[in-house]
Amino acid sequence: MDFGGDRTVRIWHRSTAVKTSEVESLYIEKFGQKPACSARAPGRVELLGNHTDYNQGFVMALAVDKCITQAASPRADGVVELVSAEFRQTAKFSIDSIAKDPAVPWSDYAKGLLIELGKRGVRMGGYNAAIHSTIPLGAGLSSSAALLVSTALVVRDLYPYSLTETGVGLPPSRKPDGSLPELSIAEKMILSKICQAAENKFVGVNCGLLDYISSLYGRANKVVLIDCLNLTVDWVPFPEGLSVVVCHSGVKHALVAGEYNERRRCCEEAAHALGVHSLRFVSPSDLESGRRKLTDLQYRRAAHVVGENNRVQLGAQALRSNDLELFGRFLFESHKSSQENFENSCPELDLLVELAKSDPACIGARLTGGGFGGATLNLVKRGHAEAFRQRMASGYEKAFGRKLESWECEVVDGAA
Ligand code: ADP
Ligand code: MG
Repeated sequence: MDFGGDRTVRIWHRSTAVKTSEVESLYIEKFGQKPACSARAPGRVELLGNHTDYNQGFVMALAVDKCITQAASPRADGVVELVSAEFRQTAKFSIDSIAKDPAVPWSDYAKGLLIELGKRGVRMGGYNAAIHSTIPLGAGLSSSAALLVSTALVVRDLYPYSLTETGVGLPPSRKPDGSLPELSIAEKMILSKICQAAENKFVGVNCGLLDYISSLYGRANKVVLIDCLNLTVDWVPFPEGLSVVVCHSGVKHALVAGEYNERRRCCEEAAHALGVHSLRFVSPSDLESGRRKLTDLQYRRAAHVVGENNRVQLGAQALRSNDLELFGRFLFESHKSSQENFENSCPELDLLVELAKSDPACIGARLTGGGFGGATLNLVKRGHAEAFRQRMASGYEKAFGRKLESWECEVVDGAA
């Protein structure tokens, strides 16, 4: 692939506000000099709004302090060389001939992104990058989105671009300290779509926009409220007195992709039977009045999505008026609906939510993300998270004989 354009390489060194120590050491160890720039992108947790994204509905998400950091410098020879601390591996390829390499499948994310940026007219050359992550793999905190977003940001720092709906605009100018202005609100949405295209087309995972939007639009101590129809974002305060605890069941069911596709299809069929484009346009009362048009299965699948959309909107009001008891109740209701209507829970997740429900420190808990295994999200009174995690671990081990991994997460700013 030829991205063409000016490949003049400018070298500058500057310190950034992000914590770079570990990633910088990795970079220096691998490439023998200090990196020119760095970027950090957080993982995310779905707070409320389960399987609503592809139904054009509403989601609440949090950017959390588990993140991927990359340190990078430009190269003049059009070669991209990446090292990942997680995989202890190096990937090397020419930006002019990007192809999959089964020995380093994790490099597909950067490759897919460079292809998508190139298609939109971004001109760039080669670069070296070190990748460091604190996002546990397979826990549903979206390491892949953090990898894509952090790649997009280091590439932007090395080869500045600005994004428009139809392509690229004039590149942004550096500030006196060498840094670039932040991406605009509109550019973050365009970049989310570019990341999604990279993951859908090159990596081959058919995911929605939620993960990239959360990583890019996250704000410290704020819940990101996403409207997946209009692709707009709003923020509501995250309650001061609460901590976020993620409990990872360690279960990953086979057939997850098949189940996911079946749910998606069933939601589309239900919307079609109700005469609307997506379940976004169905209110709880519409669903009841249209019930006879649906099979029992379609009704239950739709009831989950319609209920979730409703809970997200009422949940935003509850957070704004600091009614935490009500908000917590929505989380438990969401889980119950996953169990009974959407059938995307499993015994391990159900037990984790049961344990949380009977714990006085927890105000609400539910499965988070796709389901069929993975993690639960728990809102716990501040100062009680550590003891809560211990109680959860002992209850889980007693019931299933397996160790529980859990993390207390801070709600942080989005990628920069
Ligand atoms: P998640 O829910 O964490 O996003 P995915 O399966 O979507 O799970 O993405 C995980 C993949 O992302 C990994 O298999 C790997 O290819 C890539 N990835 C995640 N973290 C890193 C990392 N630190 N270094 C390199 N690749 C990574
Ligand atoms: Mg992912």
